[in-house]
Amino acid sequence: MKKIAVVEDNPDNRLLVQAILEDLYEVVEYETGPEALEGMENDPPDLVLLDISLPGMDGAEVLRRLRESPRLKTLPVVALTAHAMAGDREKYLKAGFDDYVTKPILDEGILLEVIASGLKHSAQAEAGESN
Ligand code: MN
Repeated sequence: MKKIAVVEDNPDNRLLVQAILEDLYEVVEYETGPEALEGMENDPPDLVLLDISLPGMDGAEVLRRLRESPRLKTLPVVALTAHAMAGDREKYLKAGFDDYVTKPILDEGILLEVIASGLKHSAQAEAGESN
């Protein structure tokens, strides 16, 4: 079972993501950026759902540090953004995210699709590297 890390300070959102994903993926939850960086370094997931608006270290900074980590730099990272903050897709891709999902998550199909797509690209990249 693929492992998805959820970095999100809002417990209701963590609960919702867990409920949507639990039959398909192993879900590991983190409340803060520093906790997530330490946990993922020790036990890397296959994909990260990363809240942009986190107290203390925000999602953009967490992403920056992930990209600096030899072990985690190629990890697919999907931004979780409040709807009001969601701009064009390009803004998130330019910031280095692989994709983004807006909150509140009203359509679980979109979340599942984004995750499946992120995992697929990551698998293709790995296959490419080993050839
Ligand atoms: Mn938040």
